[in-house]
Amino acid sequence: MKETQVVVVGGGPAGLAAGIEIAKSGGKVTVLDENKKPGGQLFKQIHKFFGSREHLAGTRGYEIGTKLLEETKELGVDVILDAPVYGIFEGKTVVYSKDGKQHQIKGDKIILATGATENTLAFPGSDLPGVMGAGAAQTMINVNRVLPGKKVLMVGSGNVGLIVSYQLMQAGADVVGLVEAAPNVSGYGVHASKISRGGVPIYTSHTVKRAMGDGEVSKVEICELDERFQMIEGTEKILDVDTICIAVGLSPMSEIAWTIGCDFTFIPSFGGHVPKHNENMESTLPGIYVSGDISGVEEASSAMEEGRLAGIAASEALGLYSEEKARELKGQVWKRLNTLRDGEFGEKRKLSKKTQISRYMEDANE
Ligand SMILES: Cc1cc2nc3c(=O)[nH]c(=O)nc-3n(C[C@H](O)[C@H](O)[C@H](O)COP(=O)(O)OP(=O)(O)OC[C@H]3O[C@@H](n4cnc5c(N)ncnc54)[C@H](O)[C@@H]3O)c2cc1C
Repeated sequence: MKETQVVVVGGGPAGLAAGIEIAKSGGKVTVLDENKKPGGQLFKQIHKFFGSREHLAGTRGYEIGTKLLEETKELGVDVILDAPVYGIFEGKTVVYSKDGKQHQIKGDKIILATGATENTLAFPGSDLPGVMGAGAAQTMINVNRVLPGKKVLMVGSGNVGLIVSYQLMQAGADVVGLVEAAPNVSGYGVHASKISRGGVPIYTSHTVKRAMGDGEVSKVEICELDERFQMIEGTEKILDVDTICIAVGLSPMSEIAWTIGCDFTFIPSFGGHVPKHNENMESTLPGIYVSGDISGVEEASSAMEEGRLAGIAASEALGLYSEEKARELKGQVWKRLNTLRDGEFGEKRKLSKKTQISRYMEDANE
């Protein structure tokens, strides 16, 4: 069986950043990812990132991904692709499949960076072909260069719904409308303005009543909601569409962490159940770290910082950094993370992260 010092599961921004930090400390690390190309969500993001200059605001997501890959190569991080991990067993043995065969790799430490998965929405006709996650539509246009449909209804006005609507328009689709159950748009105003300027009607306080079609979506019925989110009869509108994209939030992809027995806590603003962890990103299982969207759905910038934090902490635990050096490096990352979690949208995330860590500490002190 192959052995290494750290195994990272997931090669998105969090996993790659973790791998880079371990390699920088002189550690041996293997990153496993199920895709043919590492980078996770980053290679789908053709838009310029928001945030601060320090966090590469204004740089397109795929360019950030390219930089991470270059650094990974320069530092000699071992990246195994096309390698879905399906279990971690006793003694930190990670099992994955590759080329139709089962493989095992044992690490002294493990970092879980598996990202998040899209939430779905149930309504009559939601199982018709043509109803899909907004992230799936984004993969089709930006990675596979296939337009999912010509007339699209977007459901959900968070940043994912707004950005994917705009990218669908850029790819040549007609976005016939965006429905949002809340009375206000929930994503950044700058993204909402872009699609409004492009002529997309935004129906706030609306939802999908049903999708219609014979074997595939051809129409959708939407209707208005009252302040208790109940459908208001008589407000129905029928729109001609061939695609309905659902962008109603993401949930941490935490199955592996559940199966190995990490303790979880419920934090709605982070997407639901998240593994408890300490300031080093270490879960309640010693030597198992979490970082990025699995530890709470946020952004690529915070995912990278959390990956760095986990990487530095794992290196410290392996004796590759002195306590003093690790404290200095971790302090720098925490400073950047706190800056990211400032401002109107960030404060809530800062509070959620504090709660998540304090719940780990409560258990540790019991
Ligand atoms: C439309 C959209 C727009 C966005 N815009 C921005 C933005 O402007 N700025 C910003 O900062 N963030 C943005 N984000 C968010 C950002 O993309 C994510 O927060 C970030 O990618 C999370 O990083 P991660 O490494 O945790 O997860 P991911 O990027 O999802 O990477 C996880 C990786 O792990 C792999 N994996 C999962 N399970 C396994 C397994 N069992 N075995 C092997 N591999 C596995 C996955 O396939 C994936 O490659 C956007 C997201 C979306 C969807």
